[in-house]
Amino acid sequence: MKCPKCESPMEEVAFDQVKIDRCTSCKGIWFDEFELTDLKEIEGSETVDTGDSKTGSEQNKIDRINCPKCNTQMIRMVDARQSHIWFEHCVTCSGHFFDAGEFRDLKEDSLLDFIKSWFTPERITPPTAWPSSSDSKESN
Ligand SMILES: [Zn+2]
Ligand SMILES: [Zn+2]
Repeated sequence: MKCPKCESPMEEVAFDQVKIDRCTSCKGIWFDEFELTDLKEIEGSETVDTGDSKTGSEQNKIDRINCPKCNTQMIRMVDARQSHIWFEHCVTCSGHFFDAGEFRDLKEDSLLDFIKSWFTPERITPPTAWPSSSDSKESN
């Protein structure tokens, strides 16, 4: 498979039984359907994203690419939670292409959210209208 952005050969990289394809030159990463969500859930998987995010942001400007698998023109998408992460999605084979550094970025946010959830204090709802039965005042 050839990189859809710089046309260099892509190499297969396996992480915990999930196989992705990474460009040998720009280090962009190709995820087949489900591979992205699968890999995102695995701790430490951001290490597959070995590229320089500077190169990635340069490559990010190339937004008219064809799917390296099925040759459909890919569409631009943004991550729902981190709108600065733009990636390409193929509507035909459901693959995703991430530029170097973008997957790391995506993972950092989920990690941060995970940590945040530990520090968010539990919300205590004050009891309302309590007690409600005995508030009629009795006169002497
Ligand atoms: Zn490339
Ligand atoms: Zn495709």
